[in-house]
Amino acid sequence: MIGDVHVHSRFSGDSDADPEEVVQRAIRGGLPQLCFTDHIDWDFPVEDMVFDIDFAEYFSTLSALRDKYRGEITILIGVELGMQQHLGPRYRKLLAEYPFDFAIGSQHLVEGMDPYYPETFEGKTDAYIYRKYFEETLQNLRKFHDFDSMGHLDYIVRYGKQRRRSYNCRDYADVIDEILKLLVKHNIALELNTAGLRKQVGAPNPHPDILRRYRELGGTLVTVGSDSHKSHTLGFAFDTAGEILKACGFTHYVYYVKRQPKFVRL
Ligand SMILES: [Zn+2]
Ligand SMILES: [Zn+2]
Repeated sequence: MIGDVHVHSRFSGDSDADPEEVVQRAIRGGLPQLCFTDHIDWDFPVEDMVFDIDFAEYFSTLSALRDKYRGEITILIGVELGMQQHLGPRYRKLLAEYPFDFAIGSQHLVEGMDPYYPETFEGKTDAYIYRKYFEETLQNLRKFHDFDSMGHLDYIVRYGKQRRRSYNCRDYADVIDEILKLLVKHNIALELNTAGLRKQVGAPNPHPDILRRYRELGGTLVTVGSDSHKSHTLGFAFDTAGEILKACGFTHYVYYVKRQPKFVRL
């Protein structure tokens, strides 16, 4: 992969990585390109977790790094938008206001809760919450689809009581198919997020069967990101990611500059 296009820094409420250190680490690791995608998750339901960004500061900091390290690495500026039913108009305004290279849309909530916290699964089966998660993703996607890549679809299986052991993506194929068809219809990429490989989930998010199905339904746009919140996980398992994509029938992956896809052969 020529770049990592899902990377967090201290501009995200859940990361304290210094952006310059991230850039230097990427250069040392031989990554030609990096796209910062810090979190916006307005109205996040967890007290003391605020996912908001001062975008003037974000752009001035990252643009300065882009200029300072020009010739060593290409720095792109993106954002990861946490989807909720009411946020579409605010996100559209934000995307129009700033010159983003790339926008990821991600579902981080289920039943109004952050699944990172085990209470989400209390008294419920993993299967019930997994299905809810996909259904809510679909509902949100119907309302807001002005982003470039769908982040870590099936992220929920990182947090179930039994993680992957209770997960077979075919059990949710009816809902997942609807999501994938909408992505294809709106020309939205599907992200292969390698954090699942790192977090002992044993597979990327989403599962390769879902990537394969997106391809079958006519999807050709895939992005690859590590979802790093610390600089040492940049570019994690990208060789494996390339192999998975080829096995799923893709010939190219994409990255985005000024919200336009650039194709790179696998
Ligand atoms: Zn995310
Ligand atoms: Zn992320």
